[in-house]
Parts: sequence; structure tokens; C-alpha cells
Amino acid sequence: MNYQNTLEFAQQADQQDALREFRQRFFIPQVNGKDSIYFTGNSLGLQPKTVQSYIQQELNDWAQYGVEGHFHAKNPWFSYHEIFPAQVSKIVGALPEEVVVMNQLTVNLHLLMVSFYRPTKERYKIICEAKAFPSDQYAIETQVAFHGFSKDAIVEIAPREGEHTLRTEDILSVIDAHKDSTALVLFGGVNYYSGQVLDMRTITEAAHKAGALCGFDLAHAAGNIELKLHDWQVDFACWCSYKYMNSGPGGVSGAYIHQQHLNNKTLPRFAGWWGHTKETRFQMKSGFDPIPTAEGWQLSNAPVLSMAAHKAAVDIFDEAGMPALVMKGKQLSGYLQFILNEMNEQSGQKVVEVITPSEEAARGCQVSLLMLVRGKEVFKTLMDRGVIADWREPNVIRVAPVPLYNRFEDVWQFGQIIKEVLATAAVS
Ligand SMILES: *Cc1c(COP(=O)(O)O)cnc(C)c1O
Repeated sequence: MNYQNTLEFAQQADQQDALREFRQRFFIPQVNGKDSIYFTGNSLGLQPKTVQSYIQQELNDWAQYGVEGHFHAKNPWFSYHEIFPAQVSKIVGALPEEVVVMNQLTVNLHLLMVSFYRPTKERYKIICEAKAFPSDQYAIETQVAFHGFSKDAIVEIAPREGEHTLRTEDILSVIDAHKDSTALVLFGGVNYYSGQVLDMRTITEAAHKAGALCGFDLAHAAGNIELKLHDWQVDFACWCSYKYMNSGPGGVSGAYIHQQHLNNKTLPRFAGWWGHTKETRFQMKSGFDPIPTAEGWQLSNAPVLSMAAHKAAVDIFDEAGMPALVMKGKQLSGYLQFILNEMNEQSGQKVVEVITPSEEAARGCQVSLLMLVRGKEVFKTLMDRGVIADWREPNVIRVAPVPLYNRFEDVWQFGQIIKEVLATAAVS
């Protein structure tokens, strides 16, 4: 796209946007009686207007059938989760049998580490990013301790001095340096702070070459960027559905396990009855016999009400299609970067540093702004003017214009507000 920092350009881009009608399918939060500029779809995606009727269907079936709803509901609860793999596998680039929707993200991360972090005396380390999302840090820390290892089992990779993102070459050299002692390489596919998209294919290849397994937390990647988990040979991954996937607060999570591991009944697991072979599940016998798909990692029967919201959201993804969403997401974040760069040029000094990579392959929807001047004041004005964004101490504003419901005009407005604040005299 040939960006221009004008309202006309933004409005024209919106008119020509093939996805523009999707905005109508969501409730846009109101601020001061107007549509907000909602830029926190990376934290909690907006509610599809269809969610209510999807949940109502299950409430009606529960009222009408009681326990018989397991088999007689319109979408029988017994097999409710089975409606997801066909659609969700397209979002993460997997085979349907490699995907299951279950639990919450951190729970799934633990369950997958039970199977895929199997340290030995020689090979016990986990290579991960420094300052990973806290829940991931705690999961890693306690998994390591659970196996009787100490903190030296955790090898963290940080950006170089003065940089904000990781270099693939640095990740590869750390993997190589620990190649005889590493059990698992585990990263966030998209960093929650910087918005950087990692080169998951290359990292997976390097992990395997070192004799380790490789997994990704895709909380900020699923529904945001193009993923090809199966082709990249990623061993396992998990994600939440309430960020880019709009499935509601605390919504169900997804998990992926590569096909090559699905039939491996010797993998350790923390099992439950819903992972047991369906044919003999209700014989209630002892002796766990896992389903030979990702479903074999399930513990419990499906949380149908929260899955109904997920179904409403996933149906919209199916209609829009990931390729179109990915393309528009990158255009929106590219437009935002263009506007911020222009602001720096026109200010005669750098007022904002974009810490998200500018290369298309290394970014999705999110743009993280390190405010070099008057950050708090800018953020406060943004909030007052109806922008919903995210502030991280000491001075980072994270914004995510998402393709399903954000517009180029939102991005332009955002830039205008910052420009107006910086054009006024500093308050103190
Ligand atoms: C959002 C997020 C989580 C949240 O975990 P829950 O178990 O869903 O509460 C965990 N890890 C990462 C990387 C996240 O971005």
C-alpha cells in the first residue's frame, strides 16, 4: 500500500477494504457516547453480536433436555468440542487431528510440558525468552522444579543492549551453545510486549538439530499472523481464544500436538476421562487408553457455554479467512508505523520509537510505541479522546489495530491525537 497520512486516504482505504463489513458484526465499546477506537484486541477481543444466540441455544437445550442434552441438544454436548478442529486447524496451520480446544492457556502449557519436557540428567534445559509473559515464566519455573532441577535449567535469551527485539541469529547461537543439554526450546510465537513475530520455522529446525523438542505459546499469534505449525514441524503449541480470537473473557484455549506424537502412547500425560478412547470411555474401567489425536490430551468434558462463544467467533474467522485477515492486519500496523515515522520526521526530533519490527514478516497487528517525550500525557489524552490502548511501565503504549473491526480511519485518528498533544505546550 502507498500510505498517506490524510483522512481522505484512510477513508478510501476503508471503502476499498474487502473486510469492511465485518466491523458491523461486533459490539464496539462506547466512550463519551461514540464508538471508541478499540486498540486492545490483543488483550481482549470484542464481542461478536452472534455470541448471545449461540449461548442461548445451549441454555435452551439445557432447559429443555437436562442431561439428555449430551446427546439431543442441537449441538450435542458429548461431542461439542469436535466441531472445532476443522476450523481452528486452518487458523494455526495444522491438521485437524493435531488440534483440540480445551481448558485455559496456562493449564494447556503445563499439560503439554508434562508430555514434551522430559528432562534427563544430561538433557534438562529449557531455552526461552527473557521476560516471557509471567504465567509462562511461572509454568517453566515450576516444571523445572517439579522435575528436581534448579534455575540453571532455564536459559533465557534477551535482546542485545540497546535493542528491543530478539535476533534470530542470537537464538540460534544459544541453542547451539547448549545443544547437548537442552530438552526443550519454548518461546512466545509473537512477543506480547514488543509484538515481534519470531521465525518459528527456523527456531524449530535448530531445536531439532540440537536434539531438543520445540513448542510455542501462541497467545499473541493465533488469529493474528500466518502459522504453519504442521509444516514447520513444531512439536506442540497452545493459545488462548480471548485475544485476537474474540471468544470472551477467560475463553477456552486451544492446543496443538504434531501428528508424529499423536500415536505415541508412551508419552507421559496427566490424563482424564475425556482423553480416553471414546468406544470404551463409558465402561469406566481402569487403564488409560488415549485417543490417538490431540483429543487424547483432554481431561474433562467440554465447558459448553464458553465453547458456544468460541464457536460464534470461529465462524466469523472462517468466513473472513486467515489470508485476508493477515494481509489487512499487516496493512493496518504498517500504516500506523508510517504515520509515526512521519511524526518523528516532522517533529525534528524522535518523539516516539516503534519497538515492533518494521519488516512485514516480523510483525502482526500489534505496534508497541516507546514514548520518548510526554508519554503519560499522550496516553491520558488518548484515553480521554476515546482510544482504548494499553500502557506498560515505564513508557510503552501497546496498540493493536485488528482487521476484523478496526479501520484505517482509527489508525489515522490515533496519529492525529498524538500529533495534537505534542503540538501543544507541555503541561509542566
Ligand atoms: C495472555 C497470555 C497468557 C494468559 O494465560 P491464561 O492462562 O489464559 O490466563 C499466557 N501467556 C501468554 C504469552 C499470554 O500472552
